[in-house]
Amino acid sequence: MAKMWLNAKRQIIKADTGWNDLASKNDAGFLRAENIEGVPFLSFIKGDPVRMFLDSIITRVLITNKPYILNYRCDAPATAQFMRMIVKKESDDVVSIEHDLINHGKISPSILFTENQTAHEQRCAICGKVEFKNEWHDALTNRKVFGTIHEMETKSVICPSCQEKVVQPLSEEATV
Ligand SMILES: [Zn+2]
Repeated sequence: MAKMWLNAKRQIIKADTGWNDLASKNDAGFLRAENIEGVPFLSFIKGDPVRMFLDSIITRVLITNKPYILNYRCDAPATAQFMRMIVKKESDDVVSIEHDLINHGKISPSILFTENQTAHEQRCAICGKVEFKNEWHDALTNRKVFGTIHEMETKSVICPSCQEKVVQPLSEEATV
C-alpha cells in the first residue's frame, strides 16, 4: 500500500512509508515524500485529459463525502500491474489517495511505452490500452498486434470506455 494526502488545493501534504518504498523501488527518489510535499499533485500527472479526469474525481469525493475506487493499470515493460486507487475524504479540506497492487501478469515479449504528448498513438492512463490502427489493445493480451517493436511513444489520454467511469452514477463506483 502507498498513500498520500492532499489539501483542497491539490497540494501533497504528506506521503507514507509505503509511498517512499514504491518510489525507491522504481528508482524515483525524486518522488520521495520529502521531495513532493507542497507540490501540486496534478503536476505529476501526464496529459491534460488525465489531469482533468483525476481532478473531477477529487472534486466529487470532496463534495459527496463518498470514497471513489478506480482500478487502473501501471505497467512495466515486461509486467502488467493491476492497481487499485481509493480516493477518500479525510476532513473538510483533505483527501487521501491510496494505491494498492492487486494483481500482475507477464507481458511477453516486453514493450516499453514512453510518454510523448505529440505522439500519434494514444495510451489510456486508466486501463493502459493503446489505440493502434484505430482499435484499443491491451499489451498484456494483445502483445503481438504491436509487431516486433519493443518501444512505442504514446500520449496519455482517457479512452472512451474509461471516460464513462467518471460520468456514471456515483453509487455504481463509489462503494467500499
Ligand atoms: Zn481506458
